[in-house]
Amino acid sequence: MPTDSRKPVVIIGAGIGGLSAAIRLAAAGRRVVMLEQNPAAGGKMSQIVQDGFRWDTGPSVITMRHVFEDLFAAAGRRLDDYLTLLPVDPLTRYFFPDGTRIDATRDLARMAEQIAAIDERDVEGYLDFLEYAARLHRITGPVFIYNQPPTLRSFLGVPPTDMVRVDPWLTMDQAIRRRVRSPQMRQLLGRFATYVGASPYQAPATLSVIAHVELTGGVWYPAGGIYQIAAAMQRLAIELGVEIRTDAPVAGIDVTGGRATGVLTAAGERIDAAAVVANVDVATVYDRLLPSAVGSARRASLRRLETSCSGFVLLLGVEGEHPQLAHHNIFFAQDYRAEFDDIFRRGVPPDTPTVYVAITSKSDPSHAPPGHENWFVLVNAPALGPRFDWTQQSDAYRGRVLDMLAGFGLDVRDRIRSQVTLTPQEIQQMTGAWRGALYGISSNQALNAFRRPHNRCADVCGLYFAGGTTHPGGGVPMVTLSGKVAAELVLNDS
Ligand SMILES: Cc1cc2nc3c(=O)[nH]c(=O)nc-3n(C[C@H](O)[C@H](O)[C@H](O)COP(=O)(O)OP(=O)(O)OC[C@H]3O[C@@H](n4cnc5c(N)ncnc54)[C@H](O)[C@@H]3O)c2cc1C
Repeated sequence: MPTDSRKPVVIIGAGIGGLSAAIRLAAAGRRVVMLEQNPAAGGKMSQIVQDGFRWDTGPSVITMRHVFEDLFAAAGRRLDDYLTLLPVDPLTRYFFPDGTRIDATRDLARMAEQIAAIDERDVEGYLDFLEYAARLHRITGPVFIYNQPPTLRSFLGVPPTDMVRVDPWLTMDQAIRRRVRSPQMRQLLGRFATYVGASPYQAPATLSVIAHVELTGGVWYPAGGIYQIAAAMQRLAIELGVEIRTDAPVAGIDVTGGRATGVLTAAGERIDAAAVVANVDVATVYDRLLPSAVGSARRASLRRLETSCSGFVLLLGVEGEHPQLAHHNIFFAQDYRAEFDDIFRRGVPPDTPTVYVAITSKSDPSHAPPGHENWFVLVNAPALGPRFDWTQQSDAYRGRVLDMLAGFGLDVRDRIRSQVTLTPQEIQQMTGAWRGALYGISSNQALNAFRRPHNRCADVCGLYFAGGTTHPGGGVPMVTLSGKVAAELVLNDS
């Protein structure tokens, strides 16, 4: 049934997927109202300013610049007029327990030199891996990333010769092992699985496309901080006439005769909608926003499916400067496999975690007082479950993370001048993420790309999904694409 284009499209949630959908819909001439429960837009892309420090609280690595350029171009604008995206080099500085250090870079000569110092044979292997990851991107991108959700038909459209070349039966770790030998390079390349909250020992080899977009395409830092991406999208949306209401939680979606006809705000207002786009985690939509009689089978199956991992975040205002650190840094745990066993099999945070530290004051000195740095510290953690209680154990776990850094010669315990801790519980409360999972259902199983909820709700006409828990998946560029997919569906159905 076509949607009534005189009424607004109502978007629940002003995360990146919601903003992206809003921009595309408004650019196509539709009236759009966005309702955001928090005081500011951005969702997981948020910021905190405290004691002279400024931190991004969510994403810190931005790839696939072209996705943002396309979004602004769709509205007749130039990205560069809204946002200054600066290349980051090194992409990431990797520290290994044996003292090895690798500055991952797009500069192949510099990369080859560093790899050769570990194992000369891995130089060829690394180049082979890059070629392989680029091939995966070429073959799988049109089916799994850049277009409408995959169907059996689009999947079968991939030529059989290409199908074989994506190694559908291998895990990411197995595909990497076939190419590089050193434990350091295996760990470095396997880490890209965590960009979608997955384990390299379980995730399909096709996820190596993530390595391609970063190691070949590069990493971008928006001048002023990652939050500038949300701010730029919000500015463009407002220019296009989108009405963004903050501090406006939605309590429910009105479903009449199998169709989404409007939303009910927590303040008791009913807003009529031609269509509803939910930027909220799909599992949360089924759990809290849809009437209980609607979609009970899917609600049950979403509850059953394994989720991606969550994260434990420490925002630290650190006294002193650390020239040995870059903008992005990784401190690897010795036993990487044990880390993922803890997260996905035992349901507890890693006993010995790999620790990520991003320091935007390296690129933007105004983000910390002189002589200080703003550390964003992130550790992979399981989604909320019965085996770990963050309300009781977060202080002790914070201690483990700081001990781990101290083991790498970075003992900042006496030099923390300001701090904020974000557990999976807080991430759930702040963004509506189901069980605090950062990227929706798990990517550990190859078939989950087909199980991910479609951007057009299968149970309610006129309800669409944009965001990291729907196609094409999590991560800032992907959710920006999900907004495009949702907007196209709304417009096609009108
Ligand atoms: C700690 C952390 C690190 C990350 N690192 C990276 C990274 O380095 N690179 C990367 O690309 N990605 C990263 N991500 C993932 C990335 O942030 C997300 O994939 C992306 O921002 C999610 O966008 P989204 O559109 O799905 O919406 P979300 O950000 O989930 O936003 C949903 C919005 O809906 C609102 N909402 C929920 N319920 C309601 C309601 N009932 N009424 C009204 N509003 C509601 C929420 O308040 C929120 O604003 C990270 C995420 C986290 C948390």
